[in-house]
Amino acid sequence: MSQQQNLFELQPAPWEVDDAREELVAKLVFATGPEGDFDYRVPEKLRDTVALGKRVRAPLGRSNRLVTGYCVGLENRPEPRQLKSLHSVFDERKLLSPQMLALTEWMADYYLCPWGKVLEAVVPAGVRTQAGTRNTKFVSLPNRVAARLTELKLTATQRRIVTFLAGQTHPVPLAQVAQAAGCTTAPIQNLHKKGLVEFVSRRVDSGSGVERSHPMREPHLSLNADQEVALEAIRAALESREHQTVLVHGVTGSGKTEIYIQAIDEVLRFGRQAIVLVPEISLTPQTEARFRSRFGNVAVLHSHQRDADRRRQWEQIATGRVGLVVGARSAIFAPTPNPGLIILDEEHETSFKQETAPRYHARDVALARAQAENIPLVLGSATPSLESWHRAQRGQYRLVSLPGRVFGRPLPGVGTIDLRTEFQDRRNRGAVSRQLALAMTATLKEGGQVILMLNRRGYSTHIQCPACGMAMECPRCAIALTHHLEGHMALCHYCDYQTKAPTQCPECQFAGIHYRGLGTQRLEAEVKARFPDYETLRMDTDAMRKPGSHEAALNRFREGEVRILVGTQMIAKGLDFPNVTLVGVINADTALHFPDFRASERTFQLVTQVAGRTGRGEQGGRVLVQSFSPEHPAILAAVRHDYATFAEGELPSREEHGYPPFACLVRIVVRGSEMAAEGFAEDLVRRLREALADEPAARVLGPAPAPIAKLRGEYRFHIQIHGCDPAVLRRGVRAATGNVKPPEDVQWIVDVDPVDML
Ligand code: ADP
Ligand code: ZN
Repeated sequence: MSQQQNLFELQPAPWEVDDAREELVAKLVFATGPEGDFDYRVPEKLRDTVALGKRVRAPLGRSNRLVTGYCVGLENRPEPRQLKSLHSVFDERKLLSPQMLALTEWMADYYLCPWGKVLEAVVPAGVRTQAGTRNTKFVSLPNRVAARLTELKLTATQRRIVTFLAGQTHPVPLAQVAQAAGCTTAPIQNLHKKGLVEFVSRRVDSGSGVERSHPMREPHLSLNADQEVALEAIRAALESREHQTVLVHGVTGSGKTEIYIQAIDEVLRFGRQAIVLVPEISLTPQTEARFRSRFGNVAVLHSHQRDADRRRQWEQIATGRVGLVVGARSAIFAPTPNPGLIILDEEHETSFKQETAPRYHARDVALARAQAENIPLVLGSATPSLESWHRAQRGQYRLVSLPGRVFGRPLPGVGTIDLRTEFQDRRNRGAVSRQLALAMTATLKEGGQVILMLNRRGYSTHIQCPACGMAMECPRCAIALTHHLEGHMALCHYCDYQTKAPTQCPECQFAGIHYRGLGTQRLEAEVKARFPDYETLRMDTDAMRKPGSHEAALNRFREGEVRILVGTQMIAKGLDFPNVTLVGVINADTALHFPDFRASERTFQLVTQVAGRTGRGEQGGRVLVQSFSPEHPAILAAVRHDYATFAEGELPSREEHGYPPFACLVRIVVRGSEMAAEGFAEDLVRRLREALADEPAARVLGPAPAPIAKLRGEYRFHIQIHGCDPAVLRRGVRAATGNVKPPEDVQWIVDVDPVDML
């Protein structure tokens, strides 16, 4: 519905009154400013250039300031009301196809986010700003001039220019005309002044335009029986020409990627495009290399790209010239003109969820897009999300399983080390238990490589005074400070706060302040001290700040120069090094006690994934998992490589507590000064309860202080809304929050299907 009439009461100009006529009316949404859509009249001169999916300039508000909006609708209709007119058309080319417009409209509705904001997030900044392009003058000869060329009185240079132009079918860049005629641009400018040639301005790529050379294409592998079955399932989905979701549950190293590659090949042969989403592509150069080695020309999209590169890739994709798009979460918006298949690898990964508005999950957007395009969606994982698993169990998705590794290679044997008994052993106070140290020694002696994972950065994770009990917290966040070795600093991992690590208690001046709790830096120091004959390398976000350092580190490990790799979950995923024959999990419990209903699932995933880094070569491999609770079902199941048992054990408790996948969830986080934020959160809860009063299946919990109760100086409160029907929840939230205004200094966000529960 158009809101323009409510907002502006303008007197029509007399020449605009003409109710009987059909008008072309454009529906706009704005990225910033008022929500909703607004109708504008398309003036005659813009009729040919305006189009769905282009941005336009239009006057807004009483002051008629010009703002940019997206054209999301166009229709001819008798227009009795007086509409303002569009000012101009901003884009030469459409930024979004009608299908993508529909997808973004769905996102706006589903994620309770203004449509304009969704559009602004979907089209990369580099595309919007036309990064890496510049305005260039193009020259052409008007027909009326071309018709009487011989009659014109021209100098020799001018004659060369018009003769050249007469032989062209398209406008030619000014510099190129000058070059062809062997002159400067001055004579061309002169011809323009006389009206003998025409100029048009167009945006062209300012880059070198040099294409990267592509390596030779490698042949496909011949698939084993399980892989064949999986590929057959995808093929059937492709041939059915209907949407279907296939969940490929395959253990690490079962050859899932090879299946994707051969499915993609089929899609490309039909002249359609395939989109492959992988978590954090910038961290997995191996993945990119693998697709390039098979398909040559691959478009890569991720957020660490320069704007100009991103725009070039985007435009390449839009022309349909590249068949395969590989990228992180946002690649789900790749403007492929004729997509045939979407694949999400490691579909359980949390990085597929965007944590700024629109807070979308790429897996759900992929499903919506695949449904709309009537094409298959393939989800792959060794540890599927319980959401996807549950749907497969209920028959909504087709499940195919690859229970074994390629070449019948066994999954690594996993043993646990009970840290409670280890802790009582007074002789060992380090991070590496005696058993793990023995295994490391043996592995290194045999020439193998070792990966040690600890999901905590820094040196010590707690700084505490034993005399007065003071624990160092960030003054802006309710978070313990972590001691980092560089510069002997105490850092907050949530904001930029840092301070010198104290040598005596800042409260009671006691000199024996304790630094406790284990981070990767301390682990690295311990390993270096205990294994001085072998090169050890640490990989975490602190050590990998410099661009390219990640790839360099992995190369040193691949080449065997580094024998021990120590790191956070950064090293738990995707790496494929056949010589890694031992993996140690230093503390499997780090994520187990998080106030997050997915804590068990995360723990199971992380242990399984890191275990999957070994035994990938012929030498086999083994895993040692240190834990204070080795009997926990998530750890037990991971040790036994038993996803199904894990899921069977975990699902009933999700059902009992009304959590996904049995219910849906909307989370609202309010932040600001303590009083104002809590008061506003209470107000929201009241409104929500009222709006959902007739919905017995919907529950509103809260407000309560969020698990991270204070962040960057702001207090945080959260509200959880549970229910069976997502549409009911959305309607309730919309009704309750439609016209609320938080007090000044209070901010709030709505997160549909939240992943981050802190
Ligand atoms: P996943 O993605 O399930 O972890 P990959 O596709 O990476 O597994 O396969 C693991 C390894 O096995 C890779 O080095 C891959 O090249 C190899 N591989 C996969 N399928 C086959 C096959 N059919 N024949 C030979 N090698 C294979
Ligand atoms: Zn902080």
